[in-house]
Amino acid sequence: MVTTRDERAGKILQILRENFEVPRFSGVVRDPFKVLVRTVISQSTAEVNTRRAYENLSKSFQITPEALSEADLKEIKEALKVAGLYRNKSKVLKEIARRVLEEFSGSLDFIYSAPLAEARKRLMELPGVGFKTADIVLLFCARRPVLPVDTHVNRVSKRLGLAPTSGGYEDVRLSLQRLYKPEECFDVHMLLIALGRKYCKALKPLCSKCPVKDLCPSALV
Ligand code: SF4
Repeated sequence: MVTTRDERAGKILQILRENFEVPRFSGVVRDPFKVLVRTVISQSTAEVNTRRAYENLSKSFQITPEALSEADLKEIKEALKVAGLYRNKSKVLKEIARRVLEEFSGSLDFIYSAPLAEARKRLMELPGVGFKTADIVLLFCARRPVLPVDTHVNRVSKRLGLAPTSGGYEDVRLSLQRLYKPEECFDVHMLLIALGRKYCKALKPLCSKCPVKDLCPSALV
C-alpha cells in the first residue's frame, strides 16, 4: 500500500517507466549552443513547428555562434517563419550568438564544469533565456541535476499532487527535485511529458485510460 508522497512519487515513476520509453538522444544534445537555439525556438511553439523551424535554420546556416552572429536577420526570420513569435526569436538568436562569442569566447562549455547555480545564472544572463531554457540546456547537454518544468511537467505534476497547485516554476521544480533523485531528473522530465501528451491532456485528460490513475488525486474516474 502506497502511503507517503515519496512512496507515491516512486511508484508513479516506476509505472511511467513500464508504460513509456525514455528517448535517448545523440547528436544535437552534445552541442549546448544547438540545444540553446532549439529551445529558444521551441518557446510557445508546438514540437512539430519547432522541428521544422530548426531544420530550416540548419539548412540556411551552420548553428554556431560565429555563423548566426553574422547571419542576415531577414534570412533568419525567413527560416523561422513556421515558429511562433519568429520575428522576436530571430533577433534574440542573433543577439545570443553575438553575446556567446563576446562574453563566453564562443563556447558554452562552462555548463559542464561551473558550479550548477553559477552555470544557470550565466545562461540566464543571455537574452531570451529563462529558467526553463537554462535548465533544458543544463540537463540535456550536461546531465546536471535540474528538472526543467515545461507546460506538460507543470500541469501533470500538479494534477498528480507532486507539486503545489499554485506554485510557480521554481516551486514546481524544487518540489519534484525533492521527490526524485538527481540521476532521475532526465527520466522524470521526459516521462511526465509523455504522460501529459498521451493521457493527461490540458483540456480533456483521459483519466480512465491513464496508467497512474490509481495514484492520482485528480483522477476523473
Ligand atoms: S489520472 Fe487523469 S489527471 Fe491524473 S495524471 Fe492521469 S490523466 Fe492526469
